[in-house]
Amino acid sequence: MQDPKFVIGMEFGSDDVFRNAIRAHAVKNRRAVRFKKNDPNRIRAICEKEGSKWFVYGSWLNDKRTFKIKSMGDEHTCAMTFTNKFVNSKMIANKYVN
Ligand SMILES: [Zn+2]
Repeated sequence: MQDPKFVIGMEFGSDDVFRNAIRAHAVKNRRAVRFKKNDPNRIRAICEKEGSKWFVYGSWLNDKRTFKIKSMGDEHTCAMTFTNKFVNSKMIANKYVN
């Protein structure tokens, strides 16, 4: 989960695992990723930098035990950002405790 590579069809054990993978991607790659308003069954994350085509969209499978990437956009076409709201004291603590 240091720098997850997303592909369509990739499966996660839960929506939380998926969210954490997106956060890890955003932090590691210094991208302005944010979550769109989500409903309980699906998650869409986008890059909010203008012009960037990156997004990833996933939803639960019918069994409600597997969260799967259904579609995603291209690689980031944006510049890196040096502020990231996913970097907070909890994340930094986790990283260094590990
Ligand atoms: Zn981007």
